[in-house]
Amino acid sequence: MDNLPKSEANTTPLTPLTFFTRASKCYANRASIIYEGTTFTWKQTYERCCSLAFSLRALNVARNHVVSVLAPNIPAMYEMHFAVPMAGAVLNTINTRLDANNIATILHHSEAKLFFVDYEYVPKAKEALQLLMEKESTTTLATHTNSYSSNLPLVIVIDDINSPTGIRFGELEYEQLVHNGDPNFIPYEIQDEWAPIALNYTSGTTSAPKGVVYSHRGAYLSSLSLILGWEMGTEPVYLWTLPMFHCNGWTLTWGVAARGGTNVCLRNTTAHDIYRNIAMHNVTHMCCAPVVFNIILESKSGIEPNEIKLKSPVRILTGGAPPPAALLEKIESIGFQVTHAYGITEATGPALVCEWQRQWNKLPKQEQARLKARQGVSVLTLGEVDVKNLDTMESVPRDGKSLGEIVLRGSGIMKGYFKDPMLTSKALCNGWFQTGDVGIIDSDGYIEIKDRSKDVIISGGENISSVEVESILYKHPRVLEAAVVAMPHPKWGESPCAFITLNKNIKGKTEKDVTETDIISYCSKNMSKFMVPKVVKIVEELPKTATGKIQKYELRVKAKGFAVT
Ligand code: ADP
Repeated sequence: MDNLPKSEANTTPLTPLTFFTRASKCYANRASIIYEGTTFTWKQTYERCCSLAFSLRALNVARNHVVSVLAPNIPAMYEMHFAVPMAGAVLNTINTRLDANNIATILHHSEAKLFFVDYEYVPKAKEALQLLMEKESTTTLATHTNSYSSNLPLVIVIDDINSPTGIRFGELEYEQLVHNGDPNFIPYEIQDEWAPIALNYTSGTTSAPKGVVYSHRGAYLSSLSLILGWEMGTEPVYLWTLPMFHCNGWTLTWGVAARGGTNVCLRNTTAHDIYRNIAMHNVTHMCCAPVVFNIILESKSGIEPNEIKLKSPVRILTGGAPPPAALLEKIESIGFQVTHAYGITEATGPALVCEWQRQWNKLPKQEQARLKARQGVSVLTLGEVDVKNLDTMESVPRDGKSLGEIVLRGSGIMKGYFKDPMLTSKALCNGWFQTGDVGIIDSDGYIEIKDRSKDVIISGGENISSVEVESILYKHPRVLEAAVVAMPHPKWGESPCAFITLNKNIKGKTEKDVTETDIISYCSKNMSKFMVPKVVKIVEELPKTATGKIQKYELRVKAKGFAVT
């Protein structure tokens, strides 16, 4: 049997572009995209992407060229996930919350040939191009033309029905490229499933951003993993609350095409827009970081959280940061059904999922939330996950308490870091990708993150998980957000310092009703003594990264100022 040769008939490369071609045929007349009163079908979306791919080729975009885009979750952003690889190129979605300097660094490092910019981000893009020009020390913005004579990318602006006039600064406009292209264009043939499809820069929570290269194969398998693991059935209506610039929307940009679902695009993730779209389009699925739960619960749009009840349940996949059990319980109480996943850019999005076990349905809600707050087991197509002592590379025992680093291996792991073979081999050494996250394995094999290696607090030789202290703080009815970091301590070396924001939406309560001392005494009653924060600070806002993660290193600097002497 081993001698049977492989043939072209059974070795076609795995690529998510096949989901799209199939959707254009078998779901031809089904709605593919809905955005502010406009609806496209899968056939129309396919033809628009063919046209755009044609125009990209006409602009001399060639195989493996990088095409960058700075845009929110609008139809153009979705279409580019197909049109760019259909032209043989690599899509680089840039986080819209990054500052101009970071954007310039990405454009420079990726050597982007084209730069698509949504009208809302034109001022930021202009600033980034100015900085890029300084980096490249080339011609001035005024002489920047639509050719590749300089190292600057050609700029294409994306207009919108909401776009005010007079904002244009690119030489070309998105719709013009779609209009001028050929809807019968034959897409570039992917010959190698390891060919790059996307370049995603990590958000840089703990280090400088790195360019992670995704292959067609990795994108294909990760999309399948998600739609299977999340039981996304036929005709899902998917609301884009998760930025498509974050790991290509955890690969669901491609995954929704595989199910012939409807993408409900969303420019702004406000509570009002979320509820409006859920009600108008009968949304069935959405993804978001736990921080969006706070937006939903702490509605600033005049909707009281207690008055919110969904007509039919909406499934939410959450990840990107630890969701405190108390927050999971609250969000489920208003009709959302949460699945918890853990992801990292280098694993092409989700790597672990807290796969639900039917017998857990009988447990009390609080216990269910605790189990769900665990990061879980490997997603279907990833391969393997383990928690290891990195000095010995031995797996830690499944005892729910021995700490080790979470390591991953399998199909979803990135090809490597763009233009950085040294960093790539370091990250992938010993046959495992090292995540930098510290966790434990429970006796049922489920993994729980206790911290990022840099965030563990070591107090008098005891390891304190900041995530654990935070999860108790989240149970306090007045705490909206909590972040716990290490603070120098003369006796214990380090001790925990907590920063919290307060929930202001509780009727009849004012901010003055709760003090920092109240929070400390609440902690004393609810956790071991050595874990109790010595200092608690109530703040208006917590510093966050562009992906909405709390910037603990900034808080650590602040905490030094409050150090106990
Ligand atoms: P960055 O490392 O710059 O934040 P990523 O955006 O790739 O880049 O984030 C990956 C990290 O996010 C993980 O290493 C982990 O620390 C955190 N993370 C992701 N999902 C979860 C989750 N479900 N629970 C806890 N932490 C998570």
